[in-house]
Amino acid sequence: MKRKFERPYRPEWEQDPLLSSWISRLKEDPDVAFCKSCNCKLVTRLSSLKEHVLSQKHEKHMIGYSGQSSVQQFFKISPLEEEVKKAELNVCAMLVEHNLLRHSPVRGRKLLR
Ligand SMILES: [Zn+2]
Repeated sequence: MKRKFERPYRPEWEQDPLLSSWISRLKEDPDVAFCKSCNCKLVTRLSSLKEHVLSQKHEKHMIGYSGQSSVQQFFKISPLEEEVKKAELNVCAMLVEHNLLRHSPVRGRKLLR
């Protein structure tokens, strides 16, 4: 038997920017809301869900939780590639800062290859 104030799960909550990253239906009971971040059942009422968002428990679990892998995580750049990019940026910044392309365009182009 359901409690007096519980309401069925509303799929539109999954579109709400405040809730969308962590809310889902409980697999065993589709009328119950579930926090994927805290791994807990929630009272299926919007005011309770908003209270949950503000709770210390939820805030703690949301640190580092995105709900899904980002494209950047999937194509994670290795530390060596990161260093090469930084070095390339430094060379470009130096060329621009000292206006080397204007004084020696051929030499500047060779550096960029
Ligand atoms: Zn939570």
